[in-house]
Amino acid sequence: KKPSMFNQFRNKGSPAEIAKDYFDLNYSKVFKAKWPGMRCAMLSRKKYCNILNSYADFEQYQDEIISSGAYDFISKLHENATEKNAELKNKINELEKEMSNESKQLPNEDRDEMTTSEVKSKSSQLEQNIDLLEELNSSLQTCSQLEKVCMGVHAYVYPKGDFTEFKGEIKNSLYLSFFLDASSILPVLALNPIPGDHILDLCAAPGGKFNIMVQSLGNSAHIVANDIDSKRGHRIKKVLKEYLPKTSSIHNHVKVVRFDGTQWLDQETEAYSKVLVDVPCTTDRISMYEPKIEYDNIFCNQRKRERGRLPEIQSNLLKNAILACQPGGTIVYSTCTASALQNEFVVQYTIQEMYENYQILCEVEDLSLLTRFLQDEFHFHDDQPIGTLVIPQLDANFGPTFICRLHRVT
Ligand code: SAM
Repeated sequence: KKPSMFNQFRNKGSPAEIAKDYFDLNYSKVFKAKWPGMRCAMLSRKKYCNILNSYADFEQYQDEIISSGAYDFISKLHENATEKNAELKNKINELEKEMSNESKQLPNEDRDEMTTSEVKSKSSQLEQNIDLLEELNSSLQTCSQLEKVCMGVHAYVYPKGDFTEFKGEIKNSLYLSFFLDASSILPVLALNPIPGDHILDLCAAPGGKFNIMVQSLGNSAHIVANDIDSKRGHRIKKVLKEYLPKTSSIHNHVKVVRFDGTQWLDQETEAYSKVLVDVPCTTDRISMYEPKIEYDNIFCNQRKRERGRLPEIQSNLLKNAILACQPGGTIVYSTCTASALQNEFVVQYTIQEMYENYQILCEVEDLSLLTRFLQDEFHFHDDQPIGTLVIPQLDANFGPTFICRLHRVT
């Protein structure tokens, strides 16, 4: 007899057991044949990338990392984008020439020797080319951004299938590097922080993504790092202490604050060109392990209500992130769960709410060029309706990480 859904799902037992049952039930339907591999990866030792501290004297350490077989995947991304950029420019040139010839062939007042069907076919060809040109120009714009994205950040990884682990080092009291799940860089790459930006990191602790932005922009931007949790907020301050020289003027360009992000609109609206909202979620990978203190796992029975409310909190945080962003600006929503309920559903619901309640129009942006350039490093879920989802697999054990970029139009 086939067990009913409730028989399969344990609501008693350790939090990690409950989490695994929950994921087996839900994710096997979404990821199908990929789920066993993802599950196995999530229960195995995860892979890290090594981000060099651009304020430390890292050359010797960098040489050691390179000779051990690691490569800088952000530099590789820049190279790919530059190559693609040149290819796109050529295509655009050729297409523009072709279109100019085509338009000359269309009849004008002096030359009306073409038949109606010939004219129709020529105009439709021209229309198709106009669409293609628009598409190529938009790819060119994305490519130009990617050519410069996170300039100055060196992020080393070992190739897919290589399980070597990095060793950390400290020099002259500044940390030489920090280790992160490489997919945690993707929300920052999608945000594309550039000099002159005013950036809000709404849920910033412990400060991994914030550190990447500081490494990349230094004092050419202003960054506000917020977190509701004072203990975790302290870790952001620790990042500044451990990775930046004490006397550096960068300290005047970053601010660490502690507010409830769901109430941000009470103090500021339309103040930032870019907002990162890396929300609290079920942290799938962590939830599959038994913590020292049971309460630390969000799947423990005492936190059932909190878990159920996550999509509401996430949507509220995204709403505040959109309101904090200037029209024309960019918002990146990210999580470390593979749950559609906390990813695409939250984004779609919130976009609709923003339009209905505030007449603010947000558009989901395409991240396919970014993911195409990162195929060697990550596994992406093929059927992701919006945004992109890095799925863990044993040979590239990063994620899960969901990233969605929004453009605030009005
Ligand atoms: N972006 C961080 C990083 O890269 O290191 C990780 C952020 S973590 C996924 C989510 C954070 O959201 C937690 O530090 C949590 O304290 C914070 N948080 C939860 N609710 C919040 C709220 N209402 N306002 C602001 N921060 C909140």
